[in-house]
Amino acid sequence: DNLEVVKSCANGREALDYVLSQTEHKIDIVLTDIEMPDMTGLEVLDKLNSHPEWSNIPVIMLSSADSGSEIVSALDLGAADYVTKPYIAEVLYARIRTSLRLKEKTEMLERLATTDPLTGVNNRRQFNHLSEILLSRCARDNSGAVIAMLDIDFFKRINDNYGHDAGDTVLVQFAKQLQQCFRPYDIIARMGGEEFAVCISQTDLQEGFAACERFRLLVESADYRIGDGDSFQSIKITVSIGLDHTFSGELGLNRLLKQADDALYYAKNNGRNQVSAYDSLQSR
Ligand code: GH3
Ligand code: MG
Ligand code: MG
Repeated sequence: DNLEVVKSCANGREALDYVLSQTEHKIDIVLTDIEMPDMTGLEVLDKLNSHPEWSNIPVIMLSSADSGSEIVSALDLGAADYVTKPYIAEVLYARIRTSLRLKEKTEMLERLATTDPLTGVNNRRQFNHLSEILLSRCARDNSGAVIAMLDIDFFKRINDNYGHDAGDTVLVQFAKQLQQCFRPYDIIARMGGEEFAVCISQTDLQEGFAACERFRLLVESADYRIGDGDSFQSIKITVSIGLDHTFSGELGLNRLLKQADDALYYAKNNGRNQVSAYDSLQSR
């Protein structure tokens, strides 16, 4: 929806609180005076930048013409632009448009760098990045996490029998099911080809295993629609899943990925269409 609303605040503190409170529909752009009582515009800028979620909101500073050093400080702190007072309204609007265009471009590049273009889920690099953050949180709050590696069974046959486009359709639907089955704060990624990964936070081995088993059953029972319009058909697939668990993040990400992969390898060799935990390999 194209809501265009300007919210004006009485001071820096109020503005900062307001921006941080808008989590659903984030503020597009912030305009602030540099010189203000209580909290200066530079402080507002600095505070916004210290929150990774808000640091990409462009901030345009309004300053008096003779405050060169403050303008430099603002730009060095990451201000998107500045306008000196008294300003010409048309120039201010044009600068707002420029900042918004740049923000859109930046967000597009970020999306390209972090997501898989076919399925829209995280790519491998972003998976590693977000999982590292999640594991360090586990270490801080003494919680557990599970890393699961998923690989579609006999996927090559789908390409061979129905064509590469059909294979792509299956991958897209598979990724959608992952997003539906796991929680919004679990990290879902396509690691490459027909291989996906999930990092499940705030969980123990049993719960993580159960979540993976639920997903395996969902895949097994689903119909995958391939083809177009009237000539579509439904096919069946299965998935093999290997997982590993860590508590307090004591195992690093690379170790977890390696051990989840070992468990996946076992699931493949043990008949596919099953979930296997690294822990249970040890007792065999
Ligand atoms: P397994 O049960 O052992 O996993 O067998 P598999 O056939 O799934 O495994 P294999 O690694 O032999 O084949 C994976 C296939 O995935 C081969 C490759 O052509 C296909 N593939 C990889 N990326 C894509 C893609 O983006 N789209 C499509 N349609 N196919 C892809
Ligand atoms: Mg594979
Ligand atoms: Mg496979």
